[in-house]
Amino acid sequence: MSEPVGAAALWPRPWAGPPEPGGALLVEAGRVAAVEARPPAGDLLLVPGLVNAHDHGRGLLPLAAGAPDGPLEAWLWDLWRTPATDPYLTALVAFGRMALSGVTTVVHNHLPQSPDLVTEAQAVARAARDVGLRLAFVAPVLDRNLAGYDGGAAVEAALAAPDWQAIRAAQAQPPVAEQIALVREAARAIDGPGIVTQFGPPGPQWLSQDGWQAVGEAAAGGWRSHVHLLETRLQRDWLDAECPEGAPAFFERAGLLNDRLTVAHGVFLRPGEIAAFAEAGATLALNTSSNLRLASGVADGAALAANDLRLGVGLDGMALDDDADMLREVRLTAMLLGPRRFDTPGLSREAVLRAAFSDGRVAFDGAAAPGLVAGAEADMVGLSLSALAGDRVDDAPETLAALALGRWRREAVREVRVAGRRIVADGRLTAVDLPAAEAELTAQARAARAEAPPPGWIAQARAARVRAATRGL
Ligand SMILES: [Zn+2]
Repeated sequence: MSEPVGAAALWPRPWAGPPEPGGALLVEAGRVAAVEARPPAGDLLLVPGLVNAHDHGRGLLPLAAGAPDGPLEAWLWDLWRTPATDPYLTALVAFGRMALSGVTTVVHNHLPQSPDLVTEAQAVARAARDVGLRLAFVAPVLDRNLAGYDGGAAVEAALAAPDWQAIRAAQAQPPVAEQIALVREAARAIDGPGIVTQFGPPGPQWLSQDGWQAVGEAAAGGWRSHVHLLETRLQRDWLDAECPEGAPAFFERAGLLNDRLTVAHGVFLRPGEIAAFAEAGATLALNTSSNLRLASGVADGAALAANDLRLGVGLDGMALDDDADMLREVRLTAMLLGPRRFDTPGLSREAVLRAAFSDGRVAFDGAAAPGLVAGAEADMVGLSLSALAGDRVDDAPETLAALALGRWRREAVREVRVAGRRIVADGRLTAVDLPAAEAELTAQARAARAEAPPPGWIAQARAARVRAATRGL
């Protein structure tokens, strides 16, 4: 049984050409069965679903928990202030907000709230299914430098012994082999249609060399890996000391430099490293808003434009306006990483659109999205053309493209489908009461904060870390 989805305008491959007025998609068994030329109908500009290629499912937002924007190495201590909340509800709220801005696939880097990874993976997977998103569940594997890239020396020196012991206890991790076994168990528990588990060592500096070897061996059977890389200047300095041959060599040693690797951020990647990752077929998830909010800077658009490194776009749970707006993120990334004047190269608008709508999906399961073409998964977003472009003077494709790109934002999203299933209709989630879930999550967080205020050592550890960071540690 095929269902026709008519459009005021159809933009099947935004990276490959402008939208055309009219058109319709025939949707059958979760896929686009055919694309037909038809006169304009209704108010929707149809585009493919967006891929959020790097996120953390921050239903409870860091700002709400009292973690102000600022440099990552200080901010990570502020994140300790985040009260524990139910993993299902936390992910449900985050995924719901994403869906409302047109996200149909999310690569979720999980931040565990307990040692029970499998139960939390099941909760996150259920949230993704309830909202209707495709989900990559990236499970962390980590064992070092959690109190600073100096092994925690600066923090240890600044704190009283009992406080340092408290930090050590709070940051203690099971042996890497046990963590890897848990990731495998999580995969057995949740993987299936639209859900895939990946290995996610959070960054080179946060896992020992033995740990990297173990993850490399475990991932050799075809698993994807997803790793934060060179997000900050201090991480660049750490890696230069640890592996002077550069970031690709670091991953090659572990057996992870291949087309199943996604790295995130990459603000401090060098042109030669970008070329080597491109040659290996790896993917880089850009996180423009997050890099601004955490004072890291802007990825090198000119160097990325000069190489053929596959790109995705990720919100990192840190959209500029704290509103999970993937559409604005695309525009911001295109502007900040794009060409300057007429003489300075940068990422083309087309390259950023390809990242957001097509290539970013490689970070999910290895396959780029082809756009809204016959045979493709019926993942699509309907934007209100009258809201975006009610004042347009003609329906020329270039006019429609200019208005959509210049103005699109989450408020214009009316409809979202994943595998043909309508997960957003009339600008609301179809299966989840998001305002109620948000209210419940906030109430949970407030109760948890009242019951267990943040430990006093956070501020001291943070101050010690900032002092060390100003000395380049
Ligand atoms: Zn991240």
